[in-house]
Order: sequence, then C-alpha cells, then structure tokens
Amino acid sequence: MQCKRISMMRFLSDLVAIDSSKNENLSACAAIVKREAEKNGFSVQTFDAEKLSRDRVSRQNLVITFNAGKKDTLLLLTHYDVVPAGEGWNENPFKATEVGDRVYGRGTADDKGAVAACLEAMKQLKASRKSRVNVKLLVVCDEEMGGKLGIEFLLKEAKELNGSAQLVVDGDVFPQVGASGIVFGKIRIEGKQGHAGWAHKAENAINFPFLLEISKYAEERKKKKSKLDAPPFSGVGKVYGRFNITMVHAGEKENVIPGECEAKFDLRLNPEEDEQQALEEFKQYFEKAKKKHKVNATLECTMVQPGYYTEKDDKFVEQFMKITQTLQAYAGLGGNDGRHLKIKGIPTICFGPIRRDDKIDNNIHGKNEFVLVKDLEWTRDVIIKLCEEWKE
Ligand SMILES: [Zn+2]
Repeated sequence: MQCKRISMMRFLSDLVAIDSSKNENLSACAAIVKREAEKNGFSVQTFDAEKLSRDRVSRQNLVITFNAGKKDTLLLLTHYDVVPAGEGWNENPFKATEVGDRVYGRGTADDKGAVAACLEAMKQLKASRKSRVNVKLLVVCDEEMGGKLGIEFLLKEAKELNGSAQLVVDGDVFPQVGASGIVFGKIRIEGKQGHAGWAHKAENAINFPFLLEISKYAEERKKKKSKLDAPPFSGVGKVYGRFNITMVHAGEKENVIPGECEAKFDLRLNPEEDEQQALEEFKQYFEKAKKKHKVNATLECTMVQPGYYTEKDDKFVEQFMKITQTLQAYAGLGGNDGRHLKIKGIPTICFGPIRRDDKIDNNIHGKNEFVLVKDLEWTRDVIIKLCEEWKE
C-alpha cells in the first residue's frame, strides 16, 4: 500500500512543480502526464489546440485509455492547468510540501491531485484485472480559462469519444449530480459627458437609482429554487437563482461628468433551469427598469453556460451513491466542464478531493492550497471500486 501511495505522491509533486497557470508551461505539464501514462502501459492520444490559441502556444488535451475489453466505458474528466499562485504563501507554491496529513501546493486539490488519483486508480485496475469497465481519462488544458481550448476543442476533434457515464473529477468530497448555469453580460448606460461645474448641461451616466434597481434583480432570482440541494456547509439549503453586478466602470476625472457607464453582471441559473427563459425574464425586468428611470441603456449577454443535472434515480447515480455511501446527492453552486458531455446525454457526477466543511477548507484558488492525503486516496479508491463493481 505504501509504495502505491508514494508513486501517486511523486507524480503529484512532478505536476505541482510546473507552474501551469502560465501558457508557456502547459506543454511541459502535459508531457509529465503523458510520460507517466505511457510508462504504465496506457495509450495516450493528444489533441493540441495550438492553432486556435492567440499566443500560438501548445494547448495539449490528453485522452488516456485503459482498455479492459469491456462493453462500457467510464470517462474521467480532469484538468492540469491551475490559477496563478498569488501572494502570501508560507511555502513555495510550486513545490508539493507534505505537512502531517496535508500536501500543500498550487493545484494539489484543484485539479492536479485528481489527475494523480485517477491515473493511480487506472494503474491498480490494470494490475488487478478486476475492472468491469474500460476507462478513459481526459486531462484538459484550460478548465480555469473557460474550456474553449480544452474540453470544447477535445470534443470537437475526438468525435468518437463516447462513454456510458462520466465522472468530473474536479470537485468535492460531497458528490454533485448537477451544476449551476452561468450567464455573463454587460449593461451600458449612455449619458452626456460634460463639465462638473456645468452639470445641468450634462447627463451623468453613473445612474445610481437605475443600477440599484438592476441590482435588486437578485431578489427576483432568489425566488427561483432548485429541486436540488446545495452542498453541505455552503450555508444555503436548495440551490437558488442568483444575480450580482460584479464590475462597474465609468469616469476618468473628478471634474468630468461621465458620458458612459458599463456594469457587468453574473447571473446564476439553477441546474434544471432553461437559460433562454431565464434570459428573457431578465430582459423584461431590464426594459421595465429602463423605462422607469428613463435611462438610455443596452443589455448584452457575453457568455451563456447552461447548468445540468442527472436524475437521482439514474442507475449510475444510484451505484455511485452506494459505493461512496452518500445518502444525499448535491448540485454545485458553481459551474463545471461536465455540462459538455452531459449535453450528449452521458450521466454525469462531479466529485473529487476538494473539501469545504465546517473544519477544513482547501483554499483552492487561494494561498496555501492543500489537499488531505486521505481525500486523494479516497478519490482513487472510489474510482477503483466503481469500476470493479460496475453494473452494465
Ligand atoms: Zn478545477
């Protein structure tokens, strides 16, 4: 057992050592994953989105296959890119450091630890010959950057890629059967620029009453309750509709009344919500507010990412819940890459070594990110058990 743990940790250290928040380092990180997979006898296909990238830097997406000669295939979706380290770390963020039952380092929990746990599970399944399902591990390059050059590119290129079920191994120890949808957009208010001393001749585009009215759309969204529960310790019961103005830009100088104001927003959808209907409702609210405040404003949606969920009585969900001994399936308050394959009709669950409970928070995307070794081992063992007890 000890040597299996050591090989998983060594592989994780190698991954953490490369700062894959930087595009120029992505190919070095992909090479490590590839080397480890091939060393253990797995075939690796590479799908490089370099030609679509603006900087013409290699963006490799890997598909690592364990063919057990079975009818079904389980897909495991992970990513090797990370967010920048930021300031204030106690140790070098790009050196995996074991302290007690924790390993510190950028990506240890999100999502390099998961890459290591998945590959270790595949190694053990190959050695034991007990798997009742084939496994394909997808390791993509830009989950943190939006997915265009990662999972989206991969699915377009690898047309034959298909699976009976999918585990998005980029999540919590509390498994989630769905994720929220996300809409980004911007509101532009037009006024009339002018001298602050001659304010009566200008029209200030920073229209606070109008912006306040728009921000109050949060109260409308809040009324939309999902049938799915939010993760434990998240502080909310059911997942619900959210709306926030997250960026406001206007003005250049104290004595100039700004003629333009731009407010960007984030609107969160329930996993089961229809995004077009939700957008229509917001547009109506926006038009009403415009009229009420007599504002010259436009609304534009810049990104629409639908939510998704898998029914609790789906046999894959039932099987997974039994194996992990979870009584409750949750839906995420954030979005994840699982939606791309869920759209194809593949039952999807998101889980992984990230822990956010009343005692522990892995600080993903923050300083001193860490993962509990036992959570990496649990992730690995859940995959092994699921494959060994797979029901067609
Ligand atoms: Zn992630």
